[in-house]
Amino acid sequence: MVRKSLPVNFEGMTIPEIFLSMSTPFRYDLTMPDLANISYINDPTEWLVLLRRPTLWRVLLPTDPNQSDAQIFDPERIEARLRQVLPSPEPYGIAHKTAYRVHERVADKSVHGRIFLAGDAAHLNDPLGGMGMNGGIHDAINLTGKLAAVWQGADLSLMGRYERQRRKVAIETVQAQALRNRKVLNETDPARRAAYHGELRATVADAVANRAYMMKSSMLQSLRDLVGGIGMCNAPICHFRIVSHEDAGKGGLMGNMGNNHV
Ligand SMILES: Cc1cc2nc3c(=O)[nH]c(=O)nc-3n(C[C@H](O)[C@H](O)[C@H](O)COP(=O)(O)OP(=O)(O)OC[C@H]3O[C@@H](n4cnc5c(N)ncnc54)[C@H](O)[C@@H]3O)c2cc1C
Repeated sequence: MVRKSLPVNFEGMTIPEIFLSMSTPFRYDLTMPDLANISYINDPTEWLVLLRRPTLWRVLLPTDPNQSDAQIFDPERIEARLRQVLPSPEPYGIAHKTAYRVHERVADKSVHGRIFLAGDAAHLNDPLGGMGMNGGIHDAINLTGKLAAVWQGADLSLMGRYERQRRKVAIETVQAQALRNRKVLNETDPARRAAYHGELRATVADAVANRAYMMKSSMLQSLRDLVGGIGMCNAPICHFRIVSHEDAGKGGLMGNMGNNHV
């Protein structure tokens, strides 16, 4: 509501397919050996996500947007789709189901005088990759640091830096990664699929590449690229000092570390 009341363009796209999410008590982990708690599964023509919750498994299936709600949620169709994923003589039993549209959008402006947009109000992305809430938390940390500085006397124009820094991450990190994840899952060309699997195997086999991949997918790298100050990232919890080049130039804590001028 706040964003819609402002002159903000929420630029981007809405993904054509609908995501159907269903929760079932069926124990996929007991039936599929070595199944990870979050598994992105693509076969040549379809893809799905299996996600373990404390007492249920969630199954996410892309769904034809031309179907009506009655068709999408039809219990027989749902059972049939689940049996396509894994045949079962017994009904799966659905504890919860929902279907939603997915957007890839970033607000062109998130600072309007004393109004600041953060989290989903400022950017929406495909949940594949689990970056929406994380990105919103990063926004909040960045925003509150600058608000505190303004409260303590810094010029309100400091807030423009919040917008530049977080918009850059929303577009170049979160949106780029979410689009890539979707592309990978939708890939049907056998050669390109094999090449991607080869890349993944090579990453797993190489400790340095593996760590770089984890830093990127956990979104910690986006903070590293953004900030000049980095703490101890070998510790179980990484401590970051949020100081960009721009911030550092204005008396921040760190000097010329990092690569991006934002
Ligand atoms: C299926 C799915 C899976 C996801 N999985 C992940 C994941 O694994 N990892 C991850 O990082 N992110 C994930 N996300 C994204 C994550 O849920 C969102 O990015 C996050 O919840 C956004 O938080 P927010 O506080 O910005 O917005 P919201 O969570 O939407 O909170 C906004 C709140 O404001 C309230 N509100 C709205 N209008 C008003 C008003 N006028 N007055 C008062 N209150 C109002 C709403 O009721 C709501 O409680 C997932 C999203 C989906 C849909």
